[in-house]
Amino acid sequence: MLKFGGASLADPARVLEDIEGARSERAPLVVVASAREGVTDLLLDGLAHPRARARHREIVRAVREKHPGLPAAGKRHVDRLRRLYDSVATLGGADPALSDRLLSQGERLAVHWLSAQLRAGGVPAAPVEADHLGLITDNAYGASCVLFDRSRPAVRRGLGRMLGRGLVPVVTGYFGRSLEGRVATLGRGGSDYAASAIGALIGASRVELVKRHVSVLSADPTVVSSARPILELSYEEAEELAQFGARVLHPLTIEPARAEGVVLRVRSLEDPTHATTIGPSRAERRNRALTMLPHLRMLRIRVPGGRQRPGIVAEVSHRLAAAGVNLVQLYTSSALLCLVVEPPMVVPAIRALAPVTREAAAMVEGPSRVTLVTAIGDGVLDDLGRVPARAVRGAEGFSATPRALSLAVPENRGAAVLRELHAALVTGRGG
Ligand code: ASP
Ligand code: MG
Repeated sequence: MLKFGGASLADPARVLEDIEGARSERAPLVVVASAREGVTDLLLDGLAHPRARARHREIVRAVREKHPGLPAAGKRHVDRLRRLYDSVATLGGADPALSDRLLSQGERLAVHWLSAQLRAGGVPAAPVEADHLGLITDNAYGASCVLFDRSRPAVRRGLGRMLGRGLVPVVTGYFGRSLEGRVATLGRGGSDYAASAIGALIGASRVELVKRHVSVLSADPTVVSSARPILELSYEEAEELAQFGARVLHPLTIEPARAEGVVLRVRSLEDPTHATTIGPSRAERRNRALTMLPHLRMLRIRVPGGRQRPGIVAEVSHRLAAAGVNLVQLYTSSALLCLVVEPPMVVPAIRALAPVTREAAAMVEGPSRVTLVTAIGDGVLDDLGRVPARAVRGAEGFSATPRALSLAVPENRGAAVLRELHAALVTGRGG
């Protein structure tokens, strides 16, 4: 299975060549496509200005121009987009489900356009819209999750039938159909997740996520000049990398592949040497990758006699969750809970915790500005002794699992700590 990201669709001739290469393997092939580059951003811009009819017209025109040679079925999606913006303008806004309906047009246009391009090049491509196919999700519009058991029969049947007729299905990424029967998107960058989910559903042996330029490196090369490529990752390492800010993959991409043993390959369309394979972990492999999540805020909650208060951590998490505050990280000791959140979440977090501070006589301190620097790799806990003292000095929090060592450091120390850890754990290993 091949998934093409928006930027990789910039060059349809190159995509055609790539698909012909895959077809020469003579195994059944399914293609998943995201919207062409910039399309989802344009659509979102129109949603951010719900009453701006002139702007909507501009956007529809710009989007149409990005899909030259659309066949009639595709052109209908341009009309649909126009009507959806009309509704948004009339209503003066869009609820999450209407937004998702509109946003899905980017991928629909992409698959009709790409299929036409591929057919012109001799590939028997056929567009497939994932909601019609029966990719079922929960009702969390804007950030929905695929429901595997509900999706499996229809997705297997639908794609199986097409493959049986010798067709190359070109399926929309990014969205499915909710339990209520409406369009639900999987969140930004969700086409990777859609591809890995569909691959898992049909039992694909391999899902290749083709990006225009991509390389998975041991650190951000703009911060660490000695960053080196990582050629293989375990599912678990890749999952931690996605969660801790390496913006290569949508964070939910790994799980379906891991569950079904599908090998994922992230590769660059322009430079075939840039490829990383994601599969089961292997004892002899030692990867270390560093990530950095900057511009975060830490709140410290001091709970007098914390250990004597059963359920205090649960209560704090509960209240935060109810207020829609997502915790980036949580560090605890007996009387101190350190919460790391995104800046817009600071005020809602403090408000949500007011009852706790009253009842438990707790005190909230902060926020302070922190950067989260994380070292990821199977067995990274073994490297604890290599962490240089100066990297830890002044740190405001530390957590460790066998796969991730994460430090919350004062914001202005983030880049330096990243380099120090890279030197100690990656380049300093001599391998
Ligand atoms: N088009 C969607 C986005 O830009 C999904 C994707 O590209 O993966 O977020
Ligand atoms: Mg995109």
